[in-house]
Amino acid sequence: MTLRFFNTLSRRKEDFQPLDPPKVGLYTCGPTVYGRQHLGNYRTYIFEDLLKRVLALNGFKVRHVMNITDVGHLTSQADEGEDKMEVGSRREGKSAWDIARIYTDAFLADCRALRILPPDILCRATEHIPEQVALIERLHRKGFLYGTSDGLYYDTRRFKDYGKLAGGHAAAPARARVESNPEKRNPSDFAVWKFSPKDVKRQMEWPSPWGIGFPGWHIECSAMSMKYLGESFDIHCGGIDHIPIHHTNEIAQSEGATGKPFVKYWLHGEFLITDAGKMAKSTGGGVNVEELEARGFSPLDFRYHVLTAHYRRQLEFTWEFLEASKTARRRLREMTAFLQGSPEKPACADFAEAFKSHLADDLNAPEALAVLWECLRREDLPPGSRLKMVELAEQVFDLGLLDADRPAEIDDETAELIRRRAEARAQRDFALSDKLRQSLLARGVVVEDTREGQKWRKK
Ligand code: AMP
Ligand code: ZN
Repeated sequence: MTLRFFNTLSRRKEDFQPLDPPKVGLYTCGPTVYGRQHLGNYRTYIFEDLLKRVLALNGFKVRHVMNITDVGHLTSQADEGEDKMEVGSRREGKSAWDIARIYTDAFLADCRALRILPPDILCRATEHIPEQVALIERLHRKGFLYGTSDGLYYDTRRFKDYGKLAGGHAAAPARARVESNPEKRNPSDFAVWKFSPKDVKRQMEWPSPWGIGFPGWHIECSAMSMKYLGESFDIHCGGIDHIPIHHTNEIAQSEGATGKPFVKYWLHGEFLITDAGKMAKSTGGGVNVEELEARGFSPLDFRYHVLTAHYRRQLEFTWEFLEASKTARRRLREMTAFLQGSPEKPACADFAEAFKSHLADDLNAPEALAVLWECLRREDLPPGSRLKMVELAEQVFDLGLLDADRPAEIDDETAELIRRRAEARAQRDFALSDKLRQSLLARGVVVEDTREGQKWRKK
């Protein structure tokens, strides 16, 4: 089945043809580990996880690289302001190194809870300083850089295609108009290496041919992606906010240095929004996985919520919407529980085909989810085939539908009625078994007789 993805670079859906099939090189921008990631961030990681699983389902061998930004991401987009790691360090009275370790661990734990598969390579910016310095040297030799009093900058006018990723992209947020370093030649120029301030001792700094300092945020992704995936690779992802600056600058650095196309397909996920706009830490609206669990939700309820929207559409987050997703997921689990233990049957070909083709069409998860629902509601189909469909869907959705620890969600009295009905049926007391079936229906429990015996589920 041909996969089609919307490529931000060409602004259209394209057939997916990796450079060296069946291998696929995938780079996804990881977290800045100065605090806990919020559900908005996780929406992006879940979209990337879906992509990875759909590639695997279609026989591709994915090599996934994700970075951990543990230095160099400044509070202002204009290469000014403080390093976020130093902000986290002051906030919590811990060293920047401890902050990085604590929040990397928290991120990985959240990913496990959300069933986001780990990357093949997780690389920290602080562990790749020589690679970043080498890339900066390469750019310097080619005349792309110039020095100012606070660092080494990339002259964006020198890169012919600068801005090609964002150019005219309707969904790309406008480049922020910010006061920037007056020594910059062009407003879009950005730092590749910043000098440590003279008056303050930074916790994270390294020597370089240009002076003691630290790498810019964009250079880490160029250096590490090319180190692990080669100078040209298949797919690069991130949130939509990365189009105009971070990814635009990555292209300028990588293509400036190598003279080759950097990435073939750029995929960007839309925002998770609240009534205050984009979910963000800065606006105080950032809900995290811990809060979710404290309110009685499973992280997988949020995973379900994310799958109800196409990744290129904004998705609203409210507790009411999450409640609806929780109910829907519970219902799917109950329907699955009802089918478990049925004799094996192949999945219904039509449903399986429809399911896969929706995902192949630019990862249309909501349509694929609708196919799963439709199949599960088809009581005329053999239970074993319906179960096979759940197994197929779970390869990409991973919503815990097949987990053994299913909540019974019924009271003892109802459980007793279910037991008595099974007994009545076994004794061929059809009058009693019909009566009990009606009583159960009144309690919202549907009983079905199958060849493997009585099965029940919630209406
Ligand atoms: P950061 O830690 O800020 O670098 O963000 C990590 C990832 O989350 C990036 O790919 C961002 O584009 C993405 N992101 C940030 N806020 C949101 C949001 N509200 N909805 C979806 N993705 C987001
Ligand atoms: Zn990045």
